[in-house]
Amino acid sequence: MGKTQLRFPQKGMLKEDILAEMAESQMQDVQWREGKTFSLVYHAGEEVTDLLMSVYILFFSQNALNPTAFPSLRRFETEVVLMAADLLGGDEKVVGNMTSGGTESCLMAVKTARDWFLSRYPEVQKPEIVLPISAHPAFDKAANYFGVKAIRTPVREDLRADVDAVKKAIRPETALIVGSAPCYPHGVVDPIVALGQLAQERNILLHVDACVGGFMLPFVRRLGYPVPDFDFGVPGVTSISADLHKYGYAAKGASLILYRNREIRRHQLFATMDWPGGIYASPTMSGTRPAGPIAASWALMKYLGQEGYLRIVETVMKTTTAIREEVGNMEGVKILGEPEMSLLALASDEVNIYEVGDEMTARGWYLDRQQYPPSLHLTINFAHAGMEESFLQDLADAVKIVRKPSFARVRSNLMLNLAELAVRYLPEGLVSRLTSRASAMLGVKGASLPKRSAAMYGMMGSLPNRGDLKEVVLDLVEQFTTPQD
Ligand SMILES: *Cc1c(COP(=O)(O)O)cnc(C)c1O
Repeated sequence: MGKTQLRFPQKGMLKEDILAEMAESQMQDVQWREGKTFSLVYHAGEEVTDLLMSVYILFFSQNALNPTAFPSLRRFETEVVLMAADLLGGDEKVVGNMTSGGTESCLMAVKTARDWFLSRYPEVQKPEIVLPISAHPAFDKAANYFGVKAIRTPVREDLRADVDAVKKAIRPETALIVGSAPCYPHGVVDPIVALGQLAQERNILLHVDACVGGFMLPFVRRLGYPVPDFDFGVPGVTSISADLHKYGYAAKGASLILYRNREIRRHQLFATMDWPGGIYASPTMSGTRPAGPIAASWALMKYLGQEGYLRIVETVMKTTTAIREEVGNMEGVKILGEPEMSLLALASDEVNIYEVGDEMTARGWYLDRQQYPPSLHLTINFAHAGMEESFLQDLADAVKIVRKPSFARVRSNLMLNLAELAVRYLPEGLVSRLTSRASAMLGVKGASLPKRSAAMYGMMGSLPNRGDLKEVVLDLVEQFTTPQD
């Protein structure tokens, strides 16, 4: 890889040289086209990608900040909202906006709930939101950004939200309940109907985070798989987030936040009258908004139609079912819970699943590591159709290898033991200082994590103080945008 360029060059470069350098740089990225990457990239085939790219380029320069300047974008955004509302059980009262992604949609849901709540109870100092432990970190981010307190509740044995626990956590300060359809870690849908009842009884809002499921679950149900009610058809559901850039297969930078009615959405909008630059208003977090994702989402929904999505979802569910069934027959690994769609968490009662993850990495598969309990995450999408056999073969091999003693395992267990010993016998202050260097110790440099991460996960799991871990992680985040040597 080329050395990180520290200075803004005085002279410009040739276009060919730039493209060549970037192509070379790109070689190091995960090769998602091979269908060995889970999450991050959702690919519905070259035809769809071609359409998205040509439409994106057509609207490359436009700015959705000002809908009066670009009525075309206003129309596309409005129609994308209407089509999604139709898909998600909404009536003609449902309104919404396109955002840059799931995180922004969730941020908006929390901000809206806060302001809706404060308009009724202005005396409350710090409104609260109640959400199961499995809900996306975007809600913690929202709470952090918007001065709201997030109360996390446990999930049941089946990994779905424990409605009794949610009920107990509700206080006079509670503005919003969050449920997921499905949650990302385990792919299971929370009991939205029961949460809706609860929200109605307490007269508070309920957000359904269907970021990952919004463009899957309606079609999964139509194909005959069991899917519990989760959308605007459920009384008490007041907002839904759904990502176009996940299972909507749209260009990145496209998500939706939908509200049951205008009265609630009103609390999302922002306007200021006092700026010398003029009256300024905007519906979501961003100012300038790229038009490409809006135009491309509209085009794709029109191009595929519900039939097109149904065909894609059918393929995805076939791949998912094949993997689920085969893993069910495999010794040493299992799927957690009973996921409704195509998000699976692979775990084990017998082997260290992170080591299985390392073996899969060595075979070119990109799987996220999860915790509580340790598991590997699969987000199966259209790009994985036909990959199930090689995946299952590699998984079987990986499990077999991990079951046998090996040098790499002995070494990582040794590291783990050392780390545990250090944690047990060294003074806490020293451990804190050591862990602040842990990323360097573990060979984590810049943007590349070590190929074998089981030891790191084991060590992080053994830290007595999660605060230390947070510093290690923030170090990493800092390093990601700091020049590498
Ligand atoms: C992906 C995801 C989000 C966040 O979406 P981004 O597009 O990554 O910002 C929120 N909730 C769930 C359930 C998700 O899967």
